[in-house]
Amino acid sequence: MPSKTYLRYLISLLVAALALGLLPARAAELIQVSAARIWPSTEYTRITLETSKPVTHSTVMLKDPERLVLDLNNVELSTVLKTLGDKINPNDPYIRQVRVAYFKPGVVRIVVDLKTEIKPQVFTLPPAGDYKNRLVLDIYPTQDPLMAMLDQLEKPQSLETPVPELETPSEPSTVVNISPDIPLPVQPAPSTIAPSINKKPSPRMITIAIDAGHGGEDPGAKGASGSYEKNVTLAIAKKLKAAIDAEPNMRGVLTRDGDYFIPLHGRVVKARNMQADLFVSIHADAALSAQARGSSVFALSETGATSAMARLLAQRENESDLIGGASFGVKDPNLARTLLDLSQTATINDSLKLGKLVLDHMGAINQLHKRHVEQAGFAVLKSPDIPSILVETAFITNPEEERKLNDSAHQDKLVNSILSGIKKYFAANPALAKTRMVEK
Ligand SMILES: [Zn+2]
Repeated sequence: MPSKTYLRYLISLLVAALALGLLPARAAELIQVSAARIWPSTEYTRITLETSKPVTHSTVMLKDPERLVLDLNNVELSTVLKTLGDKINPNDPYIRQVRVAYFKPGVVRIVVDLKTEIKPQVFTLPPAGDYKNRLVLDIYPTQDPLMAMLDQLEKPQSLETPVPELETPSEPSTVVNISPDIPLPVQPAPSTIAPSINKKPSPRMITIAIDAGHGGEDPGAKGASGSYEKNVTLAIAKKLKAAIDAEPNMRGVLTRDGDYFIPLHGRVVKARNMQADLFVSIHADAALSAQARGSSVFALSETGATSAMARLLAQRENESDLIGGASFGVKDPNLARTLLDLSQTATINDSLKLGKLVLDHMGAINQLHKRHVEQAGFAVLKSPDIPSILVETAFITNPEEERKLNDSAHQDKLVNSILSGIKKYFAANPALAKTRMVEK
C-alpha cells in the first residue's frame, strides 16, 4: 500500500501537470465535432465540421508530397473525426486521403493528402438554418477550372480565321461547352471541346446560364415527403440544359452540375464569365401550409419588393449564403472578378419581359401561384447586364406538387414551358441576343 505521503506526492504531481497543461483538458471542456460532411466537385471540395463552439485553427501546406495540415484547438477526437477518412470519395478530384489524430493534448491534427497542388480556404460559420457552428475547409485547384478552359480556348484562336472585332471584341469567337462540368485541371482538355476549324460559323449563339438553386450544405426547402429542393432543381436544370443544347444556335451552361454549394454572387459572376445572354435560376417554393401550390416567376427589384410575399421569398432565397456557407471576408479565388455597379433598370425591364413569357407557358402545365411576375431583391438576379429570372417551379411542401417535381415526365413539361418562354423572348426581341460570330 502506498503511504499517505506518496499519495500526496502523486496528487501534487497531477495538479502540477494539469496546471502546466501537460494533460488533456477534461473532455467536457473540449469542443465536440458532431457531424462531418464532404462535398467533392471539380470546382472545389469542401469539408464541413459541425462543432459545439467556434473552433480556432491553423493550417500549413507541405510539399513532396502535397499535404495540408489543419490543427484544431481544444477539440475532442470524436468518432466523427476518427472516421472522417472513410468519407473521402476515391474519385475526389483533390483529396487522396485524410488522416486524423491528436497532435498534442487537446489539439486534433487533420492531415489531408492531396492529389494535386491546391489553395485552401479555412473559415468558421456561425449557426444558421439547422446547423450549429461550422468549420469549413475549402480545397480549390490552383487554377480555376473554368478560367483554365477559357485560357485554353483563347490560344488556338489566333490560328483560325480572324473574327470580326467590331462589336464585342472581348468575347470569344468560339463556343464550346463551357460549364462547371469541365475536366479536372490535371487532365488535358478533351478534344471534343477543341475549336473545330472546318465548321461554318453560324451567325448567332445564344447562351443561357441555368442556375440550379441551392446545393451542397444548403438543401433549400424540404419537401412534404423529404425531398430536397437542391436535388429537384439540379434535375430540372440538367434537363433544361439538354433541351437548350438541342436547339440550333443555343447552348445552356450550368452554374453547378453536382451537389455542392456556390455562393449567390458566385452564380452571377459565373453567368457573366460565361457571357450568358440570359440567366434562369430554378427553385422550388415552400410554405407552412401544405395546401400552397402553383408556379411563380420573379425578377429583381432595385426599389423594394412588389409584395410582402415576394420580399419574404427573396429573404429566404438569400439565406442560401448563410446556410450554404459563403466565405464572407475570405476571398474565393475562383471569384476574383467583381461586378460593376451599373444601373440595372434596362436589364430588369428585359427580365420582366422574359419572366412574363415563361410564366405564360408555365400556366399551361401548372396552376400559377401568381399571375404576374413579381419583383424583390434577389441576390442571385443581380447581373447588371444579363436579364435574369428566378422560377419557383412549384411548392415542394405540397405533397402533390412534390411528387410532380420528382416526376421525370413533369420535369420535361416544366423544361419545355421554360424553353418556350425563352424562345418567344428571343423571337420577339431578336436584338437582345448579344451578336457574335460563333459555332456550335
Ligand atoms: Zn430556393
